[in-house]
Amino acid sequence: MIDFTPTESQELIVATARQFAQRTLAPRAAELDVTGGFPRASLAEAAQLGLLGINVPERLGGVEAGAVAYALAVVELARACAGTTVAMTVSNMVAEVVTKFGTPEQQEEHVPRLCSGEYVVGGFALSEAGAGSDPAGMRTRATANGRGWVLSGQKLWITSGTDAGLFVVWARTSDAPGSQGISAFLVRGDAPGLVRGKPEHKTGQHASTTTPLEFNDVELGPEALLGEVGKGFRVAMMALDGGRIGIAGLALGCGLAATEFARGYALERQQFGSPIADYQAIQWMLADSATELEAARLLTLRAAWLKEQGRTFTQEASMAKLAASERGWAACDRAVQILGGFGYTREFPVERYLRDVRVTRIFEGTSEIQRIVISREIARRFARVAG
Ligand SMILES: Cc1cc2nc3c(=O)[nH]c(=O)nc-3n(C[C@H](O)[C@H](O)[C@H](O)COP(=O)(O)OP(=O)(O)OC[C@H]3O[C@@H](n4cnc5c(N)ncnc54)[C@H](O)[C@@H]3O)c2cc1C
Repeated sequence: MIDFTPTESQELIVATARQFAQRTLAPRAAELDVTGGFPRASLAEAAQLGLLGINVPERLGGVEAGAVAYALAVVELARACAGTTVAMTVSNMVAEVVTKFGTPEQQEEHVPRLCSGEYVVGGFALSEAGAGSDPAGMRTRATANGRGWVLSGQKLWITSGTDAGLFVVWARTSDAPGSQGISAFLVRGDAPGLVRGKPEHKTGQHASTTTPLEFNDVELGPEALLGEVGKGFRVAMMALDGGRIGIAGLALGCGLAATEFARGYALERQQFGSPIADYQAIQWMLADSATELEAARLLTLRAAWLKEQGRTFTQEASMAKLAASERGWAACDRAVQILGGFGYTREFPVERYLRDVRVTRIFEGTSEIQRIVISREIARRFARVAG
């Protein structure tokens, strides 16, 4: 039997996220879009409400509401401000990854600080200038020095790079080919030798900062190693599986916000003597957006549910991200069309939703990379059936 009724704890976290989004994020979203900057105060409030540790055990300072509650909450947050929400999704991802792969000491040291906001937020430093879709091509290196590790290299595109208090950083620890020989490290934001670069000038998500990071012989103790030496690539891939559920939620939030706004506008806007909502062309655009977003929402919830059950969800997370980001984008584009010329101005928020949603087709694996993951997983399943 399929039961779509949310549990009490899911309802509670979604209500918390919705109230916070309406009270704190929505009133600041348009201004932050113009001024840019890092929404520290909003993120501190999010931490107080448990929104930086939604799927993290209570013993480590999280609210332990599960992966489904997390996906539902992200949708609510992104409806109001996708930029602030992306900093929250990355921080939740970092808290989960330390919980999953950290030693008990690492968990106790870092996870409560991520959940409480003491670290402001967490950052995820995988990509480099020459290693985006193919992170195994990274050149950042960590060299053992008898006391621990010395980290040197540059990362690019790091969300919350300006303010994050803790980064998970991937680096090559041997010359083993490809994804072998990559390890993960926990690096504090105040580590000597870590230089935060200037924020990129982005198309959208201006409430989120995206910066390069430079590691100039950053000295790390042995306790900085996350997981086993040479097994860091697996850590990154597993983190991204979960992260993609968050990005799907982010895209859905933008698509839903744009569609809701366009629907309200269509009821008000009169042309040829009638509200444009009376015209079938407009009705069909709204119907297509509603249907596609609902399909993507179900894929997202399915991936989250599988994750919550402890089952494999790689393919489903990629399907969710692919569908939600592509259809979220289409829904925002239709919303601009429904508003006509006004949709193309800053007077109304739909052009912001369109700019904000665009990057969901790029980060945490482009749509092309999602298709590669999905086709690889399909091939594996067929091989199992045939075998
Ligand atoms: C706003 C923003 C925030 C980000 N935040 C983070 C972060 O916090 N941490 C982090 O580590 N990274 C982050 N990233 C980086 C992001 O994950 C990468 O931009 C993304 O993975 C794509 O890499 P790339 O930009 O180098 O593009 P490329 O890998 O150069 O890809 C260029 C094009 O080629 C296509 N392509 C590449 N390989 C293939 C292939 N085998 N088959 C078919 N097509 C292919 C891609 O799909 C794309 O269309 C962020 C990026 C942005 C823009």
